[in-house]
Amino acid sequence: MQITSGLPTGFNPHEYDMIVVGAGYAGAVCARRLAETVGFRVAVLERRDHIAGNAYDYYDESGILVHMFGPHIYHTYSERVHSFLSRFTEWTDYQHKVLANVHGTLMPVPFNHQSLKLAFGEERGEQLYRKLVETFGENKKVPIMELRVKNDPDLQEVADYVYENVFLHYTMKQWGQTPDQIDPSVTGRVPVFVGDDDRYFPQAPYQGMPKEGYTELFANMLEHDLIDVFCEVDARDLLTIDEGRVLVNGEVYGGEVVYTGPLDELFNLDLGALPYRTLDMKFETLDVDQFQPVGTVNYTVSEDYTRITEFKNMTGQVVPGKTTIMKEYSHAYEPGSGQTPYYAIIDPDNRKLYERYLERVSSVTNFHPVGRLAEYRYYDMDAVTNSALELSDEIISCHA
Ligand code: FAD
Ligand code: UDP
Repeated sequence: MQITSGLPTGFNPHEYDMIVVGAGYAGAVCARRLAETVGFRVAVLERRDHIAGNAYDYYDESGILVHMFGPHIYHTYSERVHSFLSRFTEWTDYQHKVLANVHGTLMPVPFNHQSLKLAFGEERGEQLYRKLVETFGENKKVPIMELRVKNDPDLQEVADYVYENVFLHYTMKQWGQTPDQIDPSVTGRVPVFVGDDDRYFPQAPYQGMPKEGYTELFANMLEHDLIDVFCEVDARDLLTIDEGRVLVNGEVYGGEVVYTGPLDELFNLDLGALPYRTLDMKFETLDVDQFQPVGTVNYTVSEDYTRITEFKNMTGQVVPGKTTIMKEYSHAYEPGSGQTPYYAIIDPDNRKLYERYLERVSSVTNFHPVGRLAEYRYYDMDAVTNSALELSDEIISCHA
């Protein structure tokens, strides 16, 4: 692999069998698989000055490994995803834990047996827990929106408490809307847990952090003789869709194109911009060993930021006397402002708009949109990896 800043003189994209737009999970997985299975020569174009997409991590001025685009915790249920990614990294056995700060009391999220006792007191908490177990069974996940419609006074009491103290204000900060107004799948990512497991991803069989960090994982994945990576290159300067064909530097491109950027940008937002939420991330290095007891504390009833992450608590890195924390402030994304489109806003109108853009590329047989941006989905890293593995299976089957 070669990583170059900008395009070298004499660069001829038509010499490559595949152009990949974006060096995040979606792009890097496809690049690697096509290079190693069918011997494609692959050019990866990335407009940032680094690989790894939103999973990018780096050592800050204090030598602490931080995640530039928000806390990233790897977890998956998929054996296939896990064995693919494990070719490029070893994992630490980190199990992510989150506490909600509710009026100064720190309680586990997902809200669980222990949280019930902290919220309602030992005796009442235990009674309510028994009711949850009778209703749903032990070690079950119950989305808050499902709990809210249960017609039982005890369950209503729990639902009201959790809705008000865990979901309402946090969701308002994160989405500018209440939990009732957003798609239930979003709050459903963090269901009430009827049990004692206090991990953020209870039951995910594979969890951890890449031992040398995410950027290193990507460097290993892209390390292949047939892959060239060009950073600080906006693919839109070369690549357009015109009358059902991909044009690269004005000429019809005969290879495959894997596109992992936002689809609306490719058409200059001419049908309207796809709505996203973005985040401002404020990093601070403090002269203490440790700031908080776990990787992330969610501020569910107070503060303007949603959560504070302390990176050393996730990576296990030992740096005496210093720690770096990060606060996230969410707001609406404005296209063309230089902000990052972090979260697709899942709703039927936005989906329809996305599908109108998708329609324009659906007949372009060598153009493949994939990933969190290009599919306009709320995907975790493992889901994107899975989507890219499936897409690469398809492309491989056409060229094997
Ligand atoms: P990206 O990582 O966004 O990569 C797309 C790349 O394409 C970018 O580098 C972009 O610069 C490049 N690009 C776009 N357009 C162009 C263009 N025109 N030319 C050239 N390059 C272009 N997932 C988890 O599993 N666990 C977590 O804990 C977790 N935490 C998260 C926290 C936050 C705050 C956010 C926002 C996401 C989190 N995720 C997490 C999700 C994870 O970041 C994504 O699933 C994953 O990074 C998506 O990979 P991707 O390749 O689809 O997109
Ligand atoms: N959420 C909440 N309170 C919490 C945790 C999550 O209200 O303490 C809601 C909120 O709407 C959030 C969604 O659940 O956007 C998904 O949370 P998750 O932690 O999965 O978000 P991400 O890590 O993707 O930002």
